[in-house]
Amino acid sequence: MTEVQKINAESLKLKTYAGEPYLLTPGPLTTSLATKEAMLRDWGSWDADFNKATAHIRSSLLEMAGADSDTYVCVPMQGSGTFSVEASLATAIDVKGKALLLMNGAYGKRAALTLDYLKRDYIVLDKGDYLPPSPEEVDEILTQNADVTDVFLVHCETSSGILNPLKEISNVVKKHGKGLIVDAMSSFGGVPLTVSEVPFDVMVSSANKCIEGVPGFGFVIIKKTLLESSKGRSHSLSLDLYEQWKHMEKTGQWRFTPPTHTVIAFHEALKQHAEEGGVAGRHSRYSRNRDVLVSGMRALGFETLLDDVWLSPIITTFLSPDHENFEFKKFYDELKKRNFIIYPGKLTEVESFRMGCIGQIDEYVVLDLIKAVEESLAAMSVDGV
Ligand SMILES: *Cc1c(COP(=O)(O)O)cnc(C)c1O
Repeated sequence: MTEVQKINAESLKLKTYAGEPYLLTPGPLTTSLATKEAMLRDWGSWDADFNKATAHIRSSLLEMAGADSDTYVCVPMQGSGTFSVEASLATAIDVKGKALLLMNGAYGKRAALTLDYLKRDYIVLDKGDYLPPSPEEVDEILTQNADVTDVFLVHCETSSGILNPLKEISNVVKKHGKGLIVDAMSSFGGVPLTVSEVPFDVMVSSANKCIEGVPGFGFVIIKKTLLESSKGRSHSLSLDLYEQWKHMEKTGQWRFTPPTHTVIAFHEALKQHAEEGGVAGRHSRYSRNRDVLVSGMRALGFETLLDDVWLSPIITTFLSPDHENFEFKKFYDELKKRNFIIYPGKLTEVESFRMGCIGQIDEYVVLDLIKAVEESLAAMSVDGV
């Protein structure tokens, strides 16, 4: 048994294929063996059992969001998460509407680019790389721009790892009577988010983040009245959320070929999510991962980009050490040799790298990572960070 396999075997009940590198990346991420094994058979997209899995997924996700099925619906959509964000923006924002985009990283910027394609009007509050938008700022902008119809916010901005103050901002948005669209891609299922706390109109997430499935589809939880009113609004045949919903309601099937293996893997992943104690259980494991990661890295001399109060249990950005022998590519390769795949930084101003806390990893895996980081620094002759 190698060191990694041994730790793997000792860790909670986490089971991946022994020897496979851990993906410390916020999706695709390390999935369980059971989730991988669920993909070892083929399914017909018309088959009643397959359709039952789709229906179960849709109702479980509504339940996870605390949304009742009279008021909200869950519509899955083929493709990566961005496909679902694009479908949602095209559905939720009227062609004559105007959005306020709250930006502090790459995914907020991507929403603006999407609205450019969709030819929807918008204004932005851009906080740069890592500062959160404040409820007061949002209040002021909405007071001064009464023609804004919808507000878009990323819950956990995965490019820095910041957990934005969603609840406080949602209160302001609702006080002004505006629509609220939340990109909770990297947080839903791992950070509490329910409609009673955050009365969103639209929430978007995907299969390969905190629910720990594999990539292939996203899903949208949306107010039924909003979806009903959006008939004919979409710019796109394949991304038409309304038509996808209508088709699913009528036939139980996806409108076009579904990613069958991904859907079945997700169905299995949802079962494990429930067994772990749902969102609360997962949130506590991820938070523990983050705490062990941050304290271990700080002990080696690394600094986090963010103050503690903004650190999400999803992913953490570390500043690259200012040492002449430190080079991200080498660091990446050294860690990969030791069975860990990390993520490059996504900041415009400073050199950084990111390490994820989600997926089938626990604190023992994180402790092993810290050891691997120490060895990698030694291999690069970085003597003290
Ligand atoms: C992962 C992610 C997305 C979607 O990215 P894809 O590469 O299209 O899956 C969108 N927003 C956030 C915040 C994300 O973390």
